[in-house]
Amino acid sequence: MTDRKIRSIVIVGGGTAGWMSAATLARILSTQYASITLIESDEIGIIGVGEATIPQMATFNRMLGLDEDQFMRETKGSFKLGIQFVNWARQGHVYYHPFGKYGLDMQGVSFHAYFLRLHQMGEAPNIDDWSLQATASRNNKFMRPIDAGNSPLSEIPYAFHFDAGLYAKFLRSYAEGLGVVRREGKIVDVKLRGEDGFVQSVVMENGDEVEGDLFIDCSGFRGLIIEQALKAGFTDWSHYLPCNRAVAVPCESVDEWTPYTRSTAHTAGWQWRIPLQHRTGNGHVFSVDHMSEDEATQILLNNLDGKPLADPRVVRFTTGHRNKLWIKNCVAMGLAGGFIEPLESTAIWLIQSGLSRFLTMFPDRDFNQADIDRYNRIMTTDYEEIRDFIVLHYHATERDDSPFWNYCRTMDIPERLAEKMRVFRSHGRCFRENEELFNDTSWFAVMHGQLMKPKSYDPVADVMSLEETRARLAHIKEAIVNSADYMPKQRDFIREHCAA
Ligand code: FAD
Repeated sequence: MTDRKIRSIVIVGGGTAGWMSAATLARILSTQYASITLIESDEIGIIGVGEATIPQMATFNRMLGLDEDQFMRETKGSFKLGIQFVNWARQGHVYYHPFGKYGLDMQGVSFHAYFLRLHQMGEAPNIDDWSLQATASRNNKFMRPIDAGNSPLSEIPYAFHFDAGLYAKFLRSYAEGLGVVRREGKIVDVKLRGEDGFVQSVVMENGDEVEGDLFIDCSGFRGLIIEQALKAGFTDWSHYLPCNRAVAVPCESVDEWTPYTRSTAHTAGWQWRIPLQHRTGNGHVFSVDHMSEDEATQILLNNLDGKPLADPRVVRFTTGHRNKLWIKNCVAMGLAGGFIEPLESTAIWLIQSGLSRFLTMFPDRDFNQADIDRYNRIMTTDYEEIRDFIVLHYHATERDDSPFWNYCRTMDIPERLAEKMRVFRSHGRCFRENEELFNDTSWFAVMHGQLMKPKSYDPVADVMSLEETRARLAHIKEAIVNSADYMPKQRDFIREHCAA
């Protein structure tokens, strides 16, 4: 049998996507299996935003075998237990989307069914009381889980905030240590093979040609290979998610590092606040069809914790994804593949899921079309499911104070989301479909947080008497308060373990 193994991999782009790809392939396949070359241009640079993550990132770090404390030190990171949403459901309203579960499922019935029963009777006003993450966040507490039997402290899913530029550098040194070769310079052309249209090489500004069996396009929004050479086409979701600009600025950090991302809704979008050890990252995501760049920048600057540390920078984007993320011998990762605004910090996870799904279907030089089709179908579903979750935040709102919110509140939404909302409105039920990223707790957090009101609670919650329901919920709440009390302040935890 002839050897059809991939012998050379060329990664185009050295942002988060490029270096995550390089590190993963070098770790899993090794550079003995195939040579790995990464090309990036310092002159073009990286997008440099993308600083909040979800707990799956810890799995990625473990897969690479990274030391988490070193990772935190080198990226000047902080820990994240969830997202606080301000002014989303209505002006002045605040809710929290925590990582991890609420309370405890009992007798095969989800916790939020019992909660809703009491909540609808006017008891149990605040779901946050049954989330360790939300309760700890109120006092800026953080610790990693410990072995504590059935205490809530045994299970504390958490994620990271980090400096995106430092993260790319960190992964670069890791990947280079495993034999990845970095080439500096601008790519000016992509050569396709005459006979089948596969990518043959990329041509650098100095005339060098870099050939490969497999190309990973991580070139950012421009999609140098996937779009410009292979004409993948783009599915545009602006009608569901009209924000198309972000203006970003770091500022001095003034508090004790909140262990959560804050998202504050404004009149034509929202503002992120991401605390790091050396600064706070801020950005205003908005629709330029509803607000000018100057106005959006002014709103951002008026809502900073401390002094800005740089000039505000505008990033333009269109929400959606390439019609095909893998074509012939090129697969697109990161912004080259698509973009959904960072409201739930999902872009880096999409790189992670792209890489792990790609590895389960890793090709040989025959590039079997069935594998490619399957990858494209699954990745498209990942994008669609995340899109629906993000659309929920905009659509399920009472806000009617601007043309932007009136549009979002009344727009047509994808049928899959409409069905989830109908199901929730009847008996407060939420489900995770298949392999979708967000689980029933997340759907409940946002539906309930956005003030959606079910007609009734789930009737199976009646399996437990009212008295027992009250007693058990009180007991769980107490365990959560005690656990949160036990936790140190995040600043102290970082000082002890991973101060930059
Ligand atoms: P880039 O960082 O743009 O990298 C592109 C690379 O390609 C660069 O190295 C560049 O030099 C190289 N390149 C391009 N053209 C050429 C050429 N011709 N020759 C040579 N090299 C070339 N994600 C999250 O998970 N959480 C967040 O909180 C979050 N916030 C975000 C906020 C905003 C406003 C935006 C726009 C994105 C955010 N993201 C977030 C997404 C995240 O930033 C990206 O997914 C991630 O940084 C990956 O970017 P990238 O590597 O695909 O692209």
